[in-house]
Amino acid sequence: MTNTKPERGPTGVMSYLECITNELEGVRSCTVKDEHRDNCQYEQCGGCLPQPSRVGLLCLRCWRRLEVTLAEWYLAENVIASHTTLISHDNAGVHGHQDGYVNLPMTTLAVDEVRSYLRGAPAEAEAWVSSTSGATNAVRFSICAERALRAFPIQERERPLRRMRCPNPVHGAYPPIVQWIPPQAFADPITVRCICGWEQSDQDKIDDILAIEAIH
Ligand SMILES: [Zn+2]
Ligand SMILES: [Zn+2]
Ligand SMILES: [Zn+2]
Repeated sequence: MTNTKPERGPTGVMSYLECITNELEGVRSCTVKDEHRDNCQYEQCGGCLPQPSRVGLLCLRCWRRLEVTLAEWYLAENVIASHTTLISHDNAGVHGHQDGYVNLPMTTLAVDEVRSYLRGAPAEAEAWVSSTSGATNAVRFSICAERALRAFPIQERERPLRRMRCPNPVHGAYPPIVQWIPPQAFADPITVRCICGWEQSDQDKIDDILAIEAIH
């Protein structure tokens, strides 16, 4: 990466486009640590010079955040969609179902808000953030989706396996099905875990478990 800090032009005026967050109401501005605008008056200021935009009108931090949030959101959308179907089939109001998803009735509102930012967005995120209105929506999307994803106790991460039963003898004749815990981040290990505390995170053994699940 070259030129991570913005440069001042001959007139002392910033000669770069600022990260769009510096122009948005109610959004924390992305600034450069310990670098200040000429008119900075706060002694306690930790840095108020705007971060330069790097991808479209987003700084690198905002761009990375958008990429991650978009990926997580699309994963969550599938769960939300199947979940909504399940709820609509249950008049009693579901508080959870066998896959371990938990339903909160208020989630629909947050989902609608997140979706509203995505409406009309180009498929390519880079194109999306190249216009002021697109970049604005993208930043608001990130913030809203992150909040929504945190608020939904969507247990998509932990799923019961179909076949694999806990080998721990404590269960006697009826060992429970174990849970599949995907990696937190790409390349992190996968774990299989039982409610009794039995756990398998040896990746070779995990492959064996996967093979069994696939065959049956
Ligand atoms: Zn400052
Ligand atoms: Zn930014
Ligand atoms: Zn067990």
